[in-house]
Amino acid sequence: MSSGRRAARGLSVAFLCDRCGREAVQALGSDARPATCPGCGLRFEAPAGGALPASRLLSRCLRCGLDRLYVQKDFNKKAGLWVFIVAALLSVPTWGLSLLAATIIDLILYFALGDATLCYGCGALHRGFRKNPDHGDFDIHIQESVDRRVRTA
Ligand SMILES: [Zn+2]
Ligand SMILES: [Zn+2]
Repeated sequence: MSSGRRAARGLSVAFLCDRCGREAVQALGSDARPATCPGCGLRFEAPAGGALPASRLLSRCLRCGLDRLYVQKDFNKKAGLWVFIVAALLSVPTWGLSLLAATIIDLILYFALGDATLCYGCGALHRGFRKNPDHGDFDIHIQESVDRRVRTA
């Protein structure tokens, strides 16, 4: 888990393993090595260097090539949850002040984190890219049209 976090600092794409469904993180760049699934050891070749836009603006999913992408905060829900669990345990001796602190910490985490670009088709999560103005927030209508396209393909 710690190695995955470190890779996420640069350009990377995270996706679910085809074989076992665990999350694999593929670092990107000219010297990127193939990713290995932490669950089953399946290797994924790095996307070709040419696929990486020099502008660091994504136009297509680096995993499946779909051009329907959306942007959301790269917020680690698990970390946020732990902040609250610890705060709840501490709230008795601190008369609830720790819960207030946890809310503030969560807000800080939320705004300190960058944006991640997600693919409507395969759910791959791209980190470290600049926000493409063409990409908006998640839109259920786009998701439905993409789902329909996948089903009928
Ligand atoms: Zn796997
Ligand atoms: Zn995709």
